[in-house]
Amino acid sequence: MRSRLLLPLIGAASALVLSGCGRPPAPDVRPGSAAPGSATAPAPRGDGRIADDRGLSPFETDHVALTELDPRLLRAVRQAAARAKTDGVDLFITSGWRSADYQRRLFDQAVTQYGSREEAKRYVLPPEKSAHVRGEAVDIGPTDAADWLGRRGAAFGLCQVYANEMWHFELATRPGGACPPQLPDATAAEY
Ligand SMILES: [Zn+2]
Repeated sequence: MRSRLLLPLIGAASALVLSGCGRPPAPDVRPGSAAPGSATAPAPRGDGRIADDRGLSPFETDHVALTELDPRLLRAVRQAAARAKTDGVDLFITSGWRSADYQRRLFDQAVTQYGSREEAKRYVLPPEKSAHVRGEAVDIGPTDAADWLGRRGAAFGLCQVYANEMWHFELATRPGGACPPQLPDATAAEY
């Protein structure tokens, strides 16, 4: 089961590790606003890396990858996870909030792997562009859970933002609304 689920991702080699990285321009982001993880908040513990390959339960309460998320996003994911459970789907967060340093390391790794900054940005954005660093994105696993959320997430305001990252979700509509069309990849969100 697990190997079948991972197959579509093998082309993007370390996509599971590097996932998620971009975002569309958000009209409500103001320079200097106190986003989770911003300089005005106390320094969070750790860099947000999730060691468990399976990911974290969305109901985990003491991991910085979750506690630094936008509370609205975490609430929506928890509601979705509870609903998924009733469909027999266990939903995990494989990546949530990331420190800027951690995101920088992921980006540098991707540049090495893909050979250029431009190609790397299709899979992982630099820290100043990443919704993960702002606490506004989660990566969901395993694949059946991401698939479930892709079909049902709009009921909770959760949308797949990038066509090449089926695991990456952001709050992008009102609960029960329609998700915006997906961008082809994270580079499309830059301009
Ligand atoms: Zn992501």
